[in-house]
Amino acid sequence: MPDRSFLDWPFFEQRHRDWAQKLEAWCAANLPVDHSDVDAACRDLVARLGDAGLLKPTALDTANPGPLDVRTLCITRETLARHDGLADFAFAMQGLGTGAISFFGTPEQQTWLDRTRDGKALSAFALSEPRSGSDVANMDMAATRDGGDYVLSGEKTWISNGGIADLYTVFARTGEAPGAKGISAFLVPADTPGLNVAERIDVIAPHPLARLSFDDVRVPASAMIGKPGDGFRIAMSVLDVFRSTVGAAALGFARRALDETIDRAASRRLFGAPLADLQMVQGHIADMALDVDAAALLIYRAAWTKDMGAPRVTREAAMAKLFATDKAQEVIDKAVQIHGGDGVRRGHIVESLYREIRALRIYEGASDVQKVVIARQTIK
Ligand SMILES: Cc1cc2nc3c(=O)[nH]c(=O)nc-3n(C[C@H](O)[C@H](O)[C@H](O)COP(=O)(O)OP(=O)(O)OC[C@H]3O[C@@H](n4cnc5c(N)ncnc54)[C@H](O)[C@@H]3O)c2cc1C
Repeated sequence: MPDRSFLDWPFFEQRHRDWAQKLEAWCAANLPVDHSDVDAACRDLVARLGDAGLLKPTALDTANPGPLDVRTLCITRETLARHDGLADFAFAMQGLGTGAISFFGTPEQQTWLDRTRDGKALSAFALSEPRSGSDVANMDMAATRDGGDYVLSGEKTWISNGGIADLYTVFARTGEAPGAKGISAFLVPADTPGLNVAERIDVIAPHPLARLSFDDVRVPASAMIGKPGDGFRIAMSVLDVFRSTVGAAALGFARRALDETIDRAASRRLFGAPLADLQMVQGHIADMALDVDAAALLIYRAAWTKDMGAPRVTREAAMAKLFATDKAQEVIDKAVQIHGGDGVRRGHIVESLYREIRALRIYEGASDVQKVVIARQTIK
């Protein structure tokens, strides 16, 4: 039984505990899913999460507007990741892909949100390019004004949900100023002519991922999200909300690794006694439990701070993401070690956790970049 005692921490309200209970029951009945066709699995997961009402926290409720509740996003990602990484991915992308529309969209653009919150449309966030991943402000993709339209040309890569999304939030250079101040955001429906999948990308923990080409993709000027030149600020505002949730997903993977390790150490007998009787194994378990709790404290501090109305949580979110993802890697590595050969057996849960965790230390700001952010904020 996973440790749920953290839900009694003062960061949470009764509605969070009720949500966690409802979600846990859904996960027990529906997860894990078959990963052999990740496109089909993700579409199905989004539809089923939507039917159950579990995608509601991912985007603005246009009938009852208010800020997204970051604690609910984090609890959800943590819980889904503990059961199935693909379910966490499907949930997370509905939020990341529409964050700019929730926070800065026009009422017309926000009509998409009812569909994404109900699981009727899938969304994607298209920021990275072949030449600009960490160095986002250096992007090449151009959006050129042509009468009442903008024409987008260039490439985006590493786009989660690329190829299966119904709408893309796309960042492109509009040229109001050099660098970060000359980028704008656009809502681009997937069926817009000229938007194509150039390559599907296969990674160690497969999920829908693609390089996209934009060959003179024409959208009306009303497709711009926010103001011209505000794209970089919009992208950073979205990441400010969702970065802590990446830490929460890592926490879910780490908790699962710890739970599996405790079961294994209790059931596996070595030298006439349970593995858990060996003090070195106990030392590993103590380190794992400590890292899990410390990560949870940082994540829910960041989430709570944002929910209490802080305009930005740059430092808190960077700390939460950096610590939770790096420590989850260590926790899972210890779990693999304590499982012995089974830890690297293809298809074993700790083997899949070992693959799932790695990318989280790279995307939405690599660990090294988070260190730079924390240092800058601390020195400031
Ligand atoms: C599985 C997966 C899913 C993704 N999904 C999306 C998505 O949905 N949308 C999207 O837009 N992008 C997505 N990305 C892209 C992701 O955000 C980039 O991979 C990430 O920003 C790193 O960029 P890069 O791969 O170009 O590496 P580079 O920018 O080349 O960086 C390489 C390494 O250099 C180091 N480094 C970089 N900057 C610094 C610094 N300032 N100081 C010290 N060291 C540094 C880091 O170790 C970094 O990992 C995804 C990536 C992956 C792997």
